[in-house]
Amino acid sequence: MQYSDSTTQNGELLRLVIPFLAKHRLPANPVAYTVSYEYLARSNKAVSKAIETRLDEGQEITNDFMHSLFEKYISPRDELHLRQVSDEIRRVIDHLAASTASTNCEATRFGQSLSQFSDTLGRTHTESALENIVKNLFSDTRTMQAAMFTMQAQLDEDKNEINVLRNQLQQIRQESLSDPLTGLTNRAGLAQKLENALLKQKTAADSCCVLIVDIDHFKKINDSYGHLVGDKVIRFVAETLKQQVKGKDTVARFGGEEYVILLPDTTLSGALSVAEKIRSAIEKTCIKRLETGESISQVTVSIGVARYLLGESAHEFLDRADAALYKSKNKGRNRVTANECDVIPLKTSRA
Ligand code: GH3
Ligand code: MG
Ligand code: MG
Repeated sequence: MQYSDSTTQNGELLRLVIPFLAKHRLPANPVAYTVSYEYLARSNKAVSKAIETRLDEGQEITNDFMHSLFEKYISPRDELHLRQVSDEIRRVIDHLAASTASTNCEATRFGQSLSQFSDTLGRTHTESALENIVKNLFSDTRTMQAAMFTMQAQLDEDKNEINVLRNQLQQIRQESLSDPLTGLTNRAGLAQKLENALLKQKTAADSCCVLIVDIDHFKKINDSYGHLVGDKVIRFVAETLKQQVKGKDTVARFGGEEYVILLPDTTLSGALSVAEKIRSAIEKTCIKRLETGESISQVTVSIGVARYLLGESAHEFLDRADAALYKSKNKGRNRVTANECDVIPLKTSRA
């Protein structure tokens, strides 16, 4: 999904979307917001028509109705885009096949002419026969050259189209593996990274860890300051997590206010120290609302850590980190806990 409206336009639309959501008593969740945005920006005819019809009929605009519009008219767009790219690829391949086939015919004909000339040369040595052969050879070579030239031009054209398509595919792939709110890897992206990382775990000496990070009492933040501020907190935590990890680590948004960090080639003590740095960085930050300068009550996170055990599935691995997270929550939140299968004492964690 891509929106190219300018920042000013986005700001103007925001001023329209919020009253629209309020008027229809809709929650400001990403789905209701996106559908309202497309309706008010007049950028999606099907959405506009469905909402106008509903309003004309005097029916209520409900959250379920907004979800159904999202499912029907917005979410499938990426699929449609993918289908269009795949049709384009098929067209380019057909074009390549056709130009190769026609050059092939020309090449076969040229080959036949050459062997005919060779036969003739074996039989006759008269001046006129030689002159004839040279003349035909010249003409056939030119025809072949023209066919090669056309094919080269077609190949160049196809090569450019293939490059454009490759970039489009990369963009679609990128979008389908990332979370639109934070730009982090999404669940599907994490599943791929985990699978790759676990394939590399062959001996007990290999070490790979995951952290599950969950914002504490996030519901209260939403309830006290609204969903838009809640979304900003989700983005702030995402940024902090990114800052605290290295290049080959993956930070993913796993669910609403829950993140998973995959740390390849990392020991349990290394993972615990990353987790503690994250916990402490978030605890120390004071978040203020831009509009009012008002401070948001302290945001903290609880973290569960697990080290991969040879032979377990990705699901079991994450479950053990989740069990450790659950302990962090139960012990009072704002703390780091390692899964009990993992042996070293938690020197870095809060008591
Ligand atoms: P705990 O400390 O036990 O984790 O409590 P919690 O309140 O953080 O957890 P709970 O699971 O009760 O509530 C999570 C809330 O997160 C509920 C849901 O409405 C909200 N949420 C989920 N996704 C989003 C989102 O994308 N944006 C916003 N603003 N809120 C979200
Ligand atoms: Mg939470
Ligand atoms: Mg949660």
